[in-house]
Amino acid sequence: MQGHSMLILCDSCGNAIPDQAAKEVLYQVDKLRYRLELCTGCLASEIKRHNGHRSVPGFRKRAAIVFTIDSPDRLPRPVESVPI
Ligand SMILES: [Zn+2]
Repeated sequence: MQGHSMLILCDSCGNAIPDQAAKEVLYQVDKLRYRLELCTGCLASEIKRHNGHRSVPGFRKRAAIVFTIDSPDRLPRPVESVPI
């Protein structure tokens, strides 16, 4: 993959962002964790929306942020879902 630039699609707003700018975010619901990658703008609004967060080692990134939420309904979703 050398010579190729990797873009990540933000799991909240859907914008394409450089891999280095994507933040790995985990949402913990009881014993389940959902892994999303967010752009810095969406991450900032998620940090505002939630009371507190923790940092843990990431799966793909060096660090990930963990938010604890009550139910998967609280996961950020794109305004228009793109079918995969
Ligand atoms: Zn975003």
